[in-house]
Amino acid sequence: MLMENCGLFAAYSKENKYNVSGRIIEGLLALQHRGQESAGIALSDGSKITTYKGKGVVNRVFTKDVARKINGYFGIGHVRYSINGFSNYINAQPLSVKYKGEFFSIAHNGQIENGNKLKEEYEEKGSIFMTTSDTELIPHLLVNNLKGVPSSWESSNIGKLIDQNIGPSYSLLLLFKNKIIAFRDSYGYRPLALCETKNGIYVASEDSAFKFFPTKDATIREINPGELIEIKDGKVKSYFINSSNKHKYCFFEHVYFARPDSNIFDENVHLMREKLGALCAQENPVEADIVVPVMDSGFSAALGYSKASNIPLEMGLMRNKYVGRTFIDPDVEERKMGVRRKLSPVKEVIENKRIILVDDSIVRGTTMKHIVKMLRENGAKQVHLRIASPKVVNTCHWGVDIPTQEELICATKSIDEIKDLLNADSIEFVSLEKLKEFLNSKKQEYCFKCFQGGN
Ligand code: SF4
Repeated sequence: MLMENCGLFAAYSKENKYNVSGRIIEGLLALQHRGQESAGIALSDGSKITTYKGKGVVNRVFTKDVARKINGYFGIGHVRYSINGFSNYINAQPLSVKYKGEFFSIAHNGQIENGNKLKEEYEEKGSIFMTTSDTELIPHLLVNNLKGVPSSWESSNIGKLIDQNIGPSYSLLLLFKNKIIAFRDSYGYRPLALCETKNGIYVASEDSAFKFFPTKDATIREINPGELIEIKDGKVKSYFINSSNKHKYCFFEHVYFARPDSNIFDENVHLMREKLGALCAQENPVEADIVVPVMDSGFSAALGYSKASNIPLEMGLMRNKYVGRTFIDPDVEERKMGVRRKLSPVKEVIENKRIILVDDSIVRGTTMKHIVKMLRENGAKQVHLRIASPKVVNTCHWGVDIPTQEELICATKSIDEIKDLLNADSIEFVSLEKLKEFLNSKKQEYCFKCFQGGN
């Protein structure tokens, strides 16, 4: 099965007043950082569903010509990322299937923990799978257990079936010809937010995707873990399918994945990263002249480190905004090559300086090695690495691209070995203990599995 971390966006025009395709394209553009391999939209005009999707980023798939041709009063959209290079068209979402003469569509963010087992069970019963994505299990589950045409299925029954049979993680959008369903698993691994304006209702993986609405006109909230939202006949209906309260919010969303201007799990992402940087400064002080962020993802943490240590923040590395994030690129060689395309050292800032280089996390260490090399080539006197999260020592089973343990630099090497390998003067992390102490009672609500050993 593929591991995915993706972006979801849904739009519903109240009283069928306008075509929502433009809104969904805008929403997907705001979520582009969550997936760059494919983009797709499924739309309903109230009587039929049409789907348009393709490989590549949103602007490439939805050119002006395409955007003009697709129409519907409500619909769902998806941007997709997969880790193992299996980015073929067949896996692009929304996944639209026809049953009893009606199409319905699914867009999924996460990875289904029991996906392999479920797939084997369905194959034993004679089911055929067209994709290699575990998302396809959901339509099989629904058509095998619900009677009548898809548009007649009760939303709460859909939610109960998924909750009882599909393991986490999922934040889901389902489109039927007469309604949209948004559903978040009871652990709440992946974020999902709801927005209502005078004319429309919207759902997105991150609330920053609603920023194109003036704040005063929009009511925004997180969809709760285990909560299902039905959007039908211009109204929002909420069902609590599972209220177990055993939350496992993905802490890595805060560390790296989400946009800094998003609010997820009741926290602003930028402010959380700033606090993590400050924690790192308290736990791992070092004498230096400047703090330099690894742009862009390390900026908030570096700001926090700088404020807490009283060492000035300087732009020692410039980022080329037109090159994609290296972590999100599944091709390893591309990732290595990408560092020099992406980051450019500012010699006048870093020459003869003792530098604290701050980044959000270290996964393989490939990128960091090249960055330290660039800083030294440009005259840095010392380079002290400070990582504003705990060591990543374990892989993820719930939908974030973290490679096998053998590839994780912190899983296989000691601090001294990492320092030598990266050619740094020192390297330190925020300890998991310090992080939990900071989060206090909220620590119980987060997943930290990739920061811990074991299975
Ligand atoms: S293991 Fe890490 S990346 Fe995966 S869900 Fe947990 S915190 Fe997130």
